[in-house]
Amino acid sequence: MFQNDKDVFNVLFEAVSEGVIVVNTKQQIVSTNKSAEDMFGYTKGELLNAHLHVLIPQRYHANHGENFDGFMKNREKRQMGHGRDLYGAHKNGHTFPVEAGLNPMDINGETFVMALVIDISVRKKQELELQTLNNELEKKVETRTIELITTVEELKEVNKERDLEIKKRIEAQDKISNALKKEKELNELKTKFLSLVSHEFKTPLSGILTSAMLLGKYKLEKQQEKRDKHIKTITDKVHYLNNILNDFLSIEKLETGKINYKYSTFKLSKVVDEVVYNANMLLKEGQTIKYPENIDDYALYQDEKIVELALSNLVHNAIKYSPEHGVIGIEINQNETETKFVVSDHGMGIPKADQKQIFNRYFRAENALLTQGTGIGLNIVKSHLENLGGSISFTSEENKGSTFIILLKNKAE
Ligand code: ADP
Repeated sequence: MFQNDKDVFNVLFEAVSEGVIVVNTKQQIVSTNKSAEDMFGYTKGELLNAHLHVLIPQRYHANHGENFDGFMKNREKRQMGHGRDLYGAHKNGHTFPVEAGLNPMDINGETFVMALVIDISVRKKQELELQTLNNELEKKVETRTIELITTVEELKEVNKERDLEIKKRIEAQDKISNALKKEKELNELKTKFLSLVSHEFKTPLSGILTSAMLLGKYKLEKQQEKRDKHIKTITDKVHYLNNILNDFLSIEKLETGKINYKYSTFKLSKVVDEVVYNANMLLKEGQTIKYPENIDDYALYQDEKIVELALSNLVHNAIKYSPEHGVIGIEINQNETETKFVVSDHGMGIPKADQKQIFNRYFRAENALLTQGTGIGLNIVKSHLENLGGSISFTSEENKGSTFIILLKNKAE
């Protein structure tokens, strides 16, 4: 075949950029083009009739033999290498990656195989570089991801600390504003106290002064009765002033939580006797106190002073807000768990409109304004009783009278 159109064929054959190598069935090279010769570093003369192995690295020779035989059996045009890298052997000893396509053909009854070979060194190198770059990129991405996760974790931590800080600040602010509120309330209390002192103290103080002055004038022995009367006036008024002062001290203690209740077991009759004894000194003309005398079995485990304070407060109010010759009643009932104190009077009563404010500090009902008072007592009593787990309530009708009820557990918890 090489005889026909030889010139044309040669020009084409030599001009192809792929290396062309033609071998016979014994794998003897029968033809090469310039590209193939340049690629493998041989001259045409050196290659012709040489075994194809000269162009294949030693380590592939064994496999190559098998592959070639297999190929000859099937004889179809195909790409060499399938899934594995192919290498060519250069004359100078180095190997280089190639891609090869095989084309079997029959010429004049003889079988040949034409291999088209491309040197893919550059491409492989680029692939390798690309791979390296990819690997580096992946590593970088990995590192960055780890850094990012760490940063996110750190941020979360910072956030947590910030939240904690904010919570602490809010708590501190609350504390400060509570303290300020307390401070303000105490200031108000003091202001109120001063204004009260200037009003409430004036009358008793001038009464004390007058009595003291008159006392000095009754020098004769037979005037002892008059002296006694003025001494009683002075004592009563000093008691009254002292009570107001005590009330104020109680408010301050209740406000600042400085109260320590002292629990003990005591007989109720003892408290009632004490309250009635003191109240008797305040009674108006013809007023009487009806109190139970069969309560020797009743005992409480509570703060005795507070129980006395509560009861005497109610009794003093009953005396204060009811007219001469009225009867003030004290009743006491006790069951397994609870004790009920009832203090009643037939006095001026509390107007309906004022009733819901009666336990508010400084509140005084409209009909009570001409009677001396501070509007503190019931407020203190209520706070104490609630602190002790008890309660206070009342019913009242204007111009008919009032009934105050205290409920208290027999045993403080
Ligand atoms: P104070 O008697 O010093 O004004 P309290 O706190 O003891 O203060 O009482 C508050 C108000 O409740 C009184 O000012 C009065 O208006 C009314 N009050 C209390 N007890 C009675 C009562 N037994 N009868 C009528 N009004 C009463």
